[in-house]
Amino acid sequence: MRYISAGDIEKYSYCPLSWWLSRKEKHVESEGVKKHRKIGKKAEEGMKEIKRIREFERDVLYFASGATMVSLVGVAMLYSSYAIAIAFHITAIFWLLAALYLLWNSGRYETLWSEAYHRMMVVIPIIATLLSILSVSFLIEPNYFLGYSLEIASLLWLIVATFFFYKMLKSEIRYSKIRKELHLPDGEIIYVDDLERSPILKSEKYGLWGRPDILLKVGEDYIPVEIKTGRVPRGPHFSHIMQLTAYMLLVEENYKAPPYGLLKYGSYIFRIDYDESLKRILLEKVDEMRKALETGEVHRNHNRPGKCRHCSRRDICPERLE
Ligand code: SF4
Repeated sequence: MRYISAGDIEKYSYCPLSWWLSRKEKHVESEGVKKHRKIGKKAEEGMKEIKRIREFERDVLYFASGATMVSLVGVAMLYSSYAIAIAFHITAIFWLLAALYLLWNSGRYETLWSEAYHRMMVVIPIIATLLSILSVSFLIEPNYFLGYSLEIASLLWLIVATFFFYKMLKSEIRYSKIRKELHLPDGEIIYVDDLERSPILKSEKYGLWGRPDILLKVGEDYIPVEIKTGRVPRGPHFSHIMQLTAYMLLVEENYKAPPYGLLKYGSYIFRIDYDESLKRILLEKVDEMRKALETGEVHRNHNRPGKCRHCSRRDICPERLE
């Protein structure tokens, strides 16, 4: 099957002849493309900040839970109590059972609230381990030197955790600034169109490919964002909606069906809901394009002189309207 790009769908939906003529064009970097690249760079900075936030978050979790563990074991080293040891022992068994239950069920929840589930799969075994260590520590004879040493060590770990927390907050502030500059809604930037590094999204089933400008992760959903530079229209253009629909279909094929996509014109953002009727219109256009590629028969499909006036291929178009 011949692959068709989301960018070509946009051109075809504007005017089939415009798409046909564009196939012979040499790529020239216009002002719009340069502006687009600048926005992409900003979005990429945002994506890097998100990566840093996730790394600092992990460091905070490791050092804070480590400090808590060391501190509690330190306290346990200062006392000895059989009753407390038994209480910790029983509680640890419950947490261990909860960890085993999560592990056993992990396949079922893979696609649902997977992120929260995976966090629980990390935190619950840590708590079970801590309780087990405590239950043993309370059985050991008090050792003041070891107890106080562990308390000092836990304090140092807590200082390191606070440092990472500070770094995480700084990255969050930077990310929120970038998001505001780009006028993007809440969500994490996880993909930015970059010719060298971004993977192409492909659909073998429909023979489509493309790179959305931005992919936002909002909760558990992946939302494609298409950025358009130039004049802000009163409403989203049909050709842009088709291009965004192609990205939504690619997101559906590569991740999961998005509830909507976003078309961004300057600081204005239009939300386009993704549904079966929109997908059907897109696939009809793709079929028409494949037929055109086979037959080589492509013509203007409108009678709007205004459209031709704004068309970048009017100078070479044999069917333009004056
Ligand atoms: S000039 Fe008009 S007919 Fe020709 S490609 Fe452009 S929009 Fe289509």
